[in-house]
Order: sequence, then C-alpha cells, then structure tokens
Amino acid sequence: MKVGLTGGIGSGKSTICGIFEWLGVPIYNADLQTKSLYLTNHILKSELIETFGEKMYSPNGEINKIEFKSILSDKTLGKRLNELVHPFVFANFENWVSKQTHPYVIKEAAILFESGADATVDTVISVIAPFDVKLKRIKQRDSQRSETEILNIMNLQLSEEELIKRSDYIVYNDSSESVIKQVLALNIELLQKSTHF
Ligand code: ATP
Repeated sequence: MKVGLTGGIGSGKSTICGIFEWLGVPIYNADLQTKSLYLTNHILKSELIETFGEKMYSPNGEINKIEFKSILSDKTLGKRLNELVHPFVFANFENWVSKQTHPYVIKEAAILFESGADATVDTVISVIAPFDVKLKRIKQRDSQRSETEILNIMNLQLSEEELIKRSDYIVYNDSSESVIKQVLALNIELLQKSTHF
C-alpha cells in the first residue's frame, strides 16, 4: 500500500517520517529524489533546458539553484516545472516501490496535492502545525532564509483547512499531543488497512 505524507513547510514531515522509519516503514523522499533526478536523468535534463533554457544548469552540470528558486516562486512557472518533472518522479517512485517488501511504504512530498501525486498513492496523511510554530521552527532550522522568503513559500502552499479536507489522516505536530503516540496508532491502522491491498 502506498501512503502519501504531506504538510506545509516546517510542519514536521521529515520528523514524522523519521518515526515511521524507526518503525521499519520504507520512506521515499520525493523532494530529495526530484533533486537527484534533475542531475542524473538525461531526458529530464534536456526537457528542462528546452523549456526553461540553458540557464537551468551551470557549465559544470550542477543545477542553478537561483533559477530553480525563481521558477518555483512563480505560480505559473512553478506549475509548469512540476508538471514536467512529475512523470519522472512517478516512474522512479514506482520502480522503488516494486523493490519494497514492507506492507506499506510512505512517499513524503511537500507538494503532494499540488503536483497531482495524491492520485498515485492509496491514502494520504497530512502533518499540521500552527502557523507561528512552523515559522519559528523554520527560522531556527534555516537561519539563511528571510522571513519574507518563508512567508512566500507558505502562501504558495495549501491551507491547513484544504489539507484537512483532502487527507485521510492527520498528525498534529503542535506539542499538544505526543506525535510518537499518534504515529504508533497510525502505524497499527495502516498495517491493518494494508491487508486489503
Ligand atoms: P520542510 O517542508 O522544510 O522540509 P518539514 O515539514 O519536513 O519541513 P521538519 O524538517 O521535520 O519539517 O521540521 C522542521 C523543524 O522543526 C526541524 O528543525 C525539526 O527538528 C523541528 N521540529 C519538528 N517537529 C518538532 C517537534 N514536535 N518539536 C520540536 N521541534 C520539532
């Protein structure tokens, strides 16, 4: 069974995935895999250059982070980039899934719904945390990021209300309820659910 896990910036996706991983659940980190595909998949690379220009890569083949950032901060261009990349990530994910033996796997993706990847998983978990908690955590974790940059990213992402509406399960990472307890309960539920797949 394929489980998608998403949530806003700083909500605690990676932290929650770390607990699932500790329970033996294989985790596919879509953001990391996408970055790796930008470098290693030659077809994707040439499609990116064809669409957005040579400036996407530096002469030594590294990705031009400033260009990628600028594209992703624009709603229309960001959508175009995600639409182009998504089929490659999907194929890579399916290949990875075919090698797993655990009853269920988790695909961690910051833009699961925005990229349409929710349609490629069987059930979705969203991690939710209050706005000020997310902002504080990101400021502490990424000291090089300005508050404006963090707020811009938050504004591009789905609202908490929308995430709750579109998800099957919610993990509240707001210090009011133990996240470990929530994940342990969810793990039992997902193991049961996976027997139907
Ligand atoms: P991003 O979208 O930027 O990848 P994320 O949703 O994966 O973020 P994490 O990296 O897991 O979020 O968490 C953001 C920061 O908040 C990290 O420094 C993490 O250690 C911290 N954090 C997450 N959950 C908690 C918690 N329950 N208590 C304290 N700190 C937390």
